[in-house]
Amino acid sequence: MEIRIADIPLEGLFFEVEEQRDYLEWNKERYPFQGPLRGWLTIRLMGIRLLVKGEIHASLLLPCSRCLEEFPYKVDVEFLDEYLPLEVLEREGEEVEISRDKADLSFYGEVIDMEALYLEKIYLSLPMKPLCSQECKGLCPYCGINLNRQSCQCHWEEVDPRWEPLKALKNGLIKN
Ligand SMILES: [Zn+2]
Ligand SMILES: [Zn+2]
Repeated sequence: MEIRIADIPLEGLFFEVEEQRDYLEWNKERYPFQGPLRGWLTIRLMGIRLLVKGEIHASLLLPCSRCLEEFPYKVDVEFLDEYLPLEVLEREGEEVEISRDKADLSFYGEVIDMEALYLEKIYLSLPMKPLCSQECKGLCPYCGINLNRQSCQCHWEEVDPRWEPLKALKNGLIKN
């Protein structure tokens, strides 16, 4: 869904988002969607600034960073962004100063791809280390078993109480 900037009317444009999509593909990563993407977007020109406002709701399957199992993750993003025309960058003077101060400024060319815009919003809202649950026990580093489902005999996490005094002694030595 590409919009030519020149075609945006004075009052702006409104889009309803209701889309069925198999995957979110971003930076060679691929996450399956569960159910439709829903939301809305408005774009409006205020002088040379392009204002994009909207919200998107979706559900994705993400791999848990601890146990690697996929789990449903709900996305609810709201955004209000400002874009400046690309040519401002090439011009000299005050406006270039603005872009130097604000490293987070975005720019638009002759067309803007609405789909790419909201897919990026979804991607950016995903957690760096997704967790299926805060209590996820992860995988055993020795035998690889999913500790949420099974337990193993590795006992790598448990500290034998008989070693506690020795540990305290060691800590004391380090402090001194
Ligand atoms: Zn997990
Ligand atoms: Zn194990």
